[in-house]
Amino acid sequence: MTAGAKRGSLEEERVQTWRIAEGNHRARAVFLDRDGTLIQEVGYLSRLDDVHIYPWTAEAIRKLNQAGLLAIVVTNQGGVGKGFYTEELVEQVHEKIARELAEQGARLDAFCYCPHHPEASLPAYRVECRCRKPAPGMVEEAVKRFKIDLSSSYIVGDTGRDMQLGFNTGLRTILVRTGYGAGEYESQRHVWPRSPDWIAENLLEGVEKILAERARHVPASGQNLLAPDNL
Ligand SMILES: [Mg+2]
Ligand SMILES: [Zn+2]
Repeated sequence: MTAGAKRGSLEEERVQTWRIAEGNHRARAVFLDRDGTLIQEVGYLSRLDDVHIYPWTAEAIRKLNQAGLLAIVVTNQGGVGKGFYTEELVEQVHEKIARELAEQGARLDAFCYCPHHPEASLPAYRVECRCRKPAPGMVEEAVKRFKIDLSSSYIVGDTGRDMQLGFNTGLRTILVRTGYGAGEYESQRHVWPRSPDWIAENLLEGVEKILAERARHVPASGQNLLAPDNL
């Protein structure tokens, strides 16, 4: 293939992407917290042996795959900045999760993580970043990469921080009672600015609620939703 032909095909690809966006056929996604949502919450996860995927996770992800919803992991890993484990370990953990789910026919479309912490012991990570949940950076990156329509997308997580990320970016919010979920709901919900849209026993029940709603109608945007441009 000549250089000219190559440029031509790239040009076509760009036009195609633009057409999809213009036609309002944007992707829908379910953003997924990692610890306490996909896998057991074990505090700072610093050993591969401590990765324990919940028994219902593969089925939940398979259902999202079959329904054509992107499954995107968004996880704060401030333990990197605190020097408890390395980014290499985080990536190994993600490879392990992806591999074990793939063996059960389930596909995660992307893993996004924030290694920063405002009080990190390692100076390189000691920043007030835009990616640490509930800041919107990881969701914004995914929107750019996958052309996601946030108003018909969701977040599932086990903490108020996950719900706040959803409030900040206009996602529908589902709190799971696994991990910190049940405890945060009991002790923290009085200080949350809004209630989550749904409470679910676990990820599978949350996914079933999402798919049932989608079967009934295209979800309308809730009230008080902020467009990402306004954040
Ligand atoms: Mg969590
Ligand atoms: Zn960050």
